[in-house]
Amino acid sequence: DEHPDAKQSGCCAPCPIACEAADRPTVDGVRTKGRPVHLNRVERPEYETLAMMGSNLGLTSSLDVMDGNDACNRLGLDTISSGAALSLVCELAERGWLPEAWGTTFAAPFAFGPYAEGDAVTWRFGDPALPPLALAALCRAQPGDGSLFGALHGGAVAFAEVVESLTGHPATRCTAHCKGLDLPAWDPRGKRGNALAYMTANVGASHMRAGYKAPTGLPKDSALDLVPELIESQNAIVVRDSLILCAFAKGASPDDMLAEAWTAITGDEASWADLCARAGVQWDLARAWNVAHWRALGRDAANEDLLSWRLRKEPLPSGVAKGCVSFQDDDDEAACLSAYYRLRGWDASGRPEVKA
Ligand code: SF4
Repeated sequence: DEHPDAKQSGCCAPCPIACEAADRPTVDGVRTKGRPVHLNRVERPEYETLAMMGSNLGLTSSLDVMDGNDACNRLGLDTISSGAALSLVCELAERGWLPEAWGTTFAAPFAFGPYAEGDAVTWRFGDPALPPLALAALCRAQPGDGSLFGALHGGAVAFAEVVESLTGHPATRCTAHCKGLDLPAWDPRGKRGNALAYMTANVGASHMRAGYKAPTGLPKDSALDLVPELIESQNAIVVRDSLILCAFAKGASPDDMLAEAWTAITGDEASWADLCARAGVQWDLARAWNVAHWRALGRDAANEDLLSWRLRKEPLPSGVAKGCVSFQDDDDEAACLSAYYRLRGWDASGRPEVKA
């Protein structure tokens, strides 16, 4: 009993924050003692993994999440996108929207949990054995081979497009993404300003490209007043990443200290404001690349910035944000995006002017 519930074990020495840990879970009502039982599998899952490979799949035990986490680690898969892909298949199976030829089960590729090798595993939420079995089956399939797993190789967004084209069911409405990147665990319908952060991150719906200093409330109010802070935080994060500084450590490192570190390393006497101004130029360059890419595909930049349908149009069904979508309405969404373009110095269609 003298042991805490979590043991810090895999941290980056000598980091004083020491965020990494391993659980001492309670199994069958008995609290684990000594060495964490799962230590030969994986450290405690990160936040996004807990949500996307856990509650998102109807799982409630962190040990079950670790099995899916471990499968992702071994197979080289991202836990956010894996959780998004598996939950989409479960939802489409639940709705009866999967192509008939695919059925609603798959053969277990190895014995695991209650399944023997070859047993039928049903696509459903709440089955702890499903993530490791489905991910292993996914990696054994050939991309585009006409099977469910062959389609799932492209990830949730591409999978939904295939299902929609094969069945006519609006499967793409069940996805949650921006620019094809699956949403992390932070639903923009529950936090004001979060949608605009996802929409304006050059890589798509990343939770690592912006941050607000204080709680922002619910998106039933406009995020228009948050746009300057959003841009400031995006530029600061470019500096952070360019310094190869851990995201958690940034919060504990004053801006002036980072500028001092930059000067000590490079000899360049730049202030924090100088570094952020350069970050703005980098942000514009990445945006210009995106815009040129979309233009080559015949796509409109402002349209590419929109979140997927569900996040814009389907209100949250319960909780403190019940009834909210990502913005007040379409007009508020357009006003926030326009304000962002204007403050970045981009034109009305979201194109930056990049000087040679
Ligand atoms: S806060 Fe960052 S540097 Fe510190 S242990 Fe965690 S990941 Fe490593």
